Amino acid sequence: MKDRIAIVTGASRGIGRGICLEFAARGASVIACARSEGPLHELAEEATRRELAGTIEPRMFDVCSRDAVDPLVESVSSKHERIDILVNNAGITRDGLMMSMDDDQFDEVLTTNLRSVFWLTRAVSRVMVRQRYGRIVNVGSVSGEFGNAGQSNYVASKAGLSGFTKSIAKEFGKRKITCNVVAPGFIETDMTAGLSEEIKTGAKKMIPLARFGTVEEVARVVAFLAGDDAAYITGQVLVVDGGLNT
Ligand code: NAP
Repeated sequence: MKDRIAIVTGASRGIGRGICLEFAARGASVIACARSEGPLHELAEEATRRELAGTIEPRMFDVCSRDAVDPLVESVSSKHERIDILVNNAGITRDGLMMSMDDDQFDEVLTTNLRSVFWLTRAVSRVMVRQRYGRIVNVGSVSGEFGNAGQSNYVASKAGLSGFTKSIAKEFGKRKITCNVVAPGFIETDMTAGLSEEIKTGAKKMIPLARFGTVEEVARVVAFLAGDDAAYITGQVLVVDGGLNT
């Protein structure tokens, strides 16, 4: 990944943070995007402190702000002259049962997890098509592949993300742009920290590897798909769930 220019969303914590550090360790210049300024600056400082081969540049960016997309892409492509990798990782949950789910709960999740991906991919793909190279990795979820009670909004967004990915893989293949999904199962982040002990214990019983995954384990799979070793892989959903859904 030496000298590759990468945009990563949802970079302030959890999986996105891990992806930024993994990319920087492999020599990439990473534009780390999220809404929380402090954690982004700490992340950039960590890359410097650890003397990673690449760099991490913090960038305040709300994926739900459509008007912020073009300025982000223009500033990155004019500063670095290219954008090689886009990781659409930012995501939220607003769980609830179908009959009590309100419109805002549904729309907020769909906008953050899916519409935003359309906006950013459209803008970045214009740069990638021009340079005839690109790697797009979308962070989905196993629940998008198999469904989950109480998460119809989240699952709809993640299933939509898989369909979106397969379509643009077909659209962009001739331009040497690949697009894939990494679909994690239960990973140790803030998103799963709030689950009850009962749910966590129950989940671990169903996971053949008998534990939650780590951020680093997901980040390394994202780095594989974003790197040159995955040049002939596109339109795929790679599940990283410890065997949960086998
Ligand atoms: P997390 O710890 O809750 O972190 C979410 C990240 O998304 C944060 O950096 C947050 O940054 C960012 N974000 C949320 N809304 C945003 C917005 N409107 N604009 C910009 N950034 C926004 O979540 P995670 O567990 O790392 O999850 C990362 C991805 O993996 C998500 O797409 C999630 O659906 C997926 N996933 C996670 C698991 C799991 O078990 N953890 C399982 C399957 C899939 P700010 O709040 O600073 O903006």
